Amino acid sequence: MFFHIRELEVRPVAFDVQIPSGAIDFLDPKIHQSGVLRAKGRAELVSSSLDEIRVKGHLTVEMVTDCDRCLEPAACPVDSDFELLYRPVADGYGDEKAIDAGEAEMGFYEGGGVELNDVLREFVLLSLPMQRLCRADCKGMCPVCGKNRNLGECRCQLETADDRWAALKSIRN
Ligand SMILES: [Zn+2]
Ligand SMILES: [Zn+2]
Repeated sequence: MFFHIRELEVRPVAFDVQIPSGAIDFLDPKIHQSGVLRAKGRAELVSSSLDEIRVKGHLTVEMVTDCDRCLEPAACPVDSDFELLYRPVADGYGDEKAIDAGEAEMGFYEGGGVELNDVLREFVLLSLPMQRLCRADCKGMCPVCGKNRNLGECRCQLETADDRWAALKSIRN
């Protein structure tokens, strides 16, 4: 769904979409959409002199990414209101993709308007937590054998301890 600036000059455009997994490329092979993304809201012209477009609404989706500690899938649900502002790419902005515009995120558009899927992708990526864990108390992987410690203790720590006892025993002997 494309919001053209000429269309928005006439009136705001409402959207209510359900986007299946795979339709939006999240640009990171570790980040997947599981299930349908639902988004509802509207696009409108904020300032006709600046051709500034605001897209706001509510977005719900279940994202899955790799757990930072154990690399197993980590669910990252997003269920949130959003508001993003877009200005046309113009001289002086350079390649900067996002600048801080206070409350709302500011981006830039080319080609006379904004593509809804691009807006939704941007908001989902902004919403993902910095630390992505399969669960808050994920024990991660053993640095020695690579076993997922959530599935049980590996032998590494035990064996290290055993070695120490063995060393002691050999001293005694
Ligand atoms: Zn984990
Ligand atoms: Zn181990």
